[in-house]
Amino acid sequence: MDSRTRPQIEAWLRYFDDLGLSPFYLDRTAVELSAVGAADREGGHLGPPLRGRVDQSGPPPPVTTQPAARAVRAQDVVLPVLPSLFNAAPRVEGDTLPRIREDIGDCKRCRLCEARNKIVFGDGNAKAELVFIGEGPGHDEDVQGLPFVGRAGKLLTQMIEAMGLRRDEVYICNIVKCRPPGNRQPERDEVATCSPFLDRQLAVIRPKVVVCLGSVAAQTLLGTNKSISQFRGQWFDFRGSKLLATYHPAFLLRTPSAKSEVWKDLKKVMAELGLKPPKPRPRTG
Ligand code: SF4
Repeated sequence: MDSRTRPQIEAWLRYFDDLGLSPFYLDRTAVELSAVGAADREGGHLGPPLRGRVDQSGPPPPVTTQPAARAVRAQDVVLPVLPSLFNAAPRVEGDTLPRIREDIGDCKRCRLCEARNKIVFGDGNAKAELVFIGEGPGHDEDVQGLPFVGRAGKLLTQMIEAMGLRRDEVYICNIVKCRPPGNRQPERDEVATCSPFLDRQLAVIRPKVVVCLGSVAAQTLLGTNKSISQFRGQWFDFRGSKLLATYHPAFLLRTPSAKSEVWKDLKKVMAELGLKPPKPRPRTG
């Protein structure tokens, strides 16, 4: 083991120890991820877990490919996601959302604590069937301590209501709980440090459906470096939930033409949850 990796692993083991999560072990069963109803992935696979920055403006990062021995259908494929510390986070007996928040405390486990105003834990129904996961808090979220309350958050609320739900019926959170300075994307080590809390939140809520908003959330949970455009709108099995990735509302504010694609994705979620869109209100006056 090289001199850089060892202290990182030691820090992680101390961190889990701090949380009372011991003995530490790698849960290999948790890392299997099956594509459901996805397009044919012959010859391709989701690459190693992404924990770094993703440049969404440029071409997709290179994807490792292997020659396919035979044509396979997507539903036959178990995507070879590599084990990661995020995937290995142990289950905590009797865990609850308040306990997770208590464990986070006045967290200084990563450098994102330095410029944050408030920790943005998550918000919504602790028994929600539907969870939305974004990348990290922005300015408004950092000020209020609540997720998705800025312009993008208002659009997310509209999207939720268009699905026939109220915002307080779903749960909303982020990959990292403190605002990255200047709204940059969270760094690899920041995601690795913070994401076990999200993992515990999902284990407590046990939603039917997880919707990842944007590439950072999707790539982190799926452990891939593929561009979100390559798997957006496809279903994945994710630890007993179904997971679908779609574009981030902030992207929709910049690119309104993508709204129709997102609506198609949300209609898939509605079908999965047996939801019908609300009837339009009659015009008055
Ligand atoms: S981002 Fe997460 S791990 Fe980092 S300081 Fe905030 S709560 Fe702690």
